[in-house]
Amino acid sequence: MTVVRYERRGPVAVVTMNRPEYRNAQNSAMTYALDEAFYRAVADDEVKAIVLAGEGKHFSAGHDIGTPGRDAHVSFERRAGLWWDHVGKEGAESRFARESEVYLGMCRRWREIPKPTIAMVQGACIAGGLMLAWVCDLIVASDDAFFADPVVRMGIPGVEYFAHPWVMPPRIAKEFLFTGDRMPARRAYEVGMVNRVVPRDELEAETFALAEKIAAMPRLGLALTKKAVNQAEDLQGMHAGMDSVFGLHHLAHAHNAETSADSLAGMDPKSMKAAADGS
Ligand code: ZN
Repeated sequence: MTVVRYERRGPVAVVTMNRPEYRNAQNSAMTYALDEAFYRAVADDEVKAIVLAGEGKHFSAGHDIGTPGRDAHVSFERRAGLWWDHVGKEGAESRFARESEVYLGMCRRWREIPKPTIAMVQGACIAGGLMLAWVCDLIVASDDAFFADPVVRMGIPGVEYFAHPWVMPPRIAKEFLFTGDRMPARRAYEVGMVNRVVPRDELEAETFALAEKIAAMPRLGLALTKKAVNQAEDLQGMHAGMDSVFGLHHLAHAHNAETSADSLAGMDPKSMKAAADGS
């Protein structure tokens, strides 16, 4: 089974994460398959807008930290930067190389896709799942969707693509991170993190109606407009801010590796869920 599906619906390309049995946990195979699909959508002159979806009940449970398909030790042909491969390196060097490529680097690369992208979010959108939704230009959520970044439980200050204080007000971002609580779609709408909240059974129709409306605009106009807003975000410190936090993120991984079972403080999906349920 392919981990990412690609289809065309008129002027809209649909890229679908397809590991529903693991709530679309993102392993490296999925990362590179997503990159392949986005590249294809950009190269196709008939495609005017791109929808990113997740198969099944949930958009994404985050990075793969415990399925049988976890592949953090595997080499892939790198796309996001020229940093050397993480495989065969030790400690922080390996982690920094890997996360620079598959997390921060890939997300930044996808944010720069010169066509409008819409995340269509249902169910869980957790930690690494946030990064995939956040790199999209627009987010349409169903009323059962929720967002959470619980990685502070691992002693880590948020996921690698640290957009938090740019996609929501800083004080809300602190609460979101300090508590690890689920933010319901309605609240995410109130703070400006998602564009629309719609009933679950209307999610697809609403998302595609929006994508088709956008697709009627001229291609270059859309690309320049996207660049204009992204540049404004970067002038508000987003790019440099993320670089600085990436250093803190890796300090936390290194501290965990030095003082606990591993760089994730010995946490796995089971213990993360137990910690969330106990709170
Ligand atoms: Zn990390």
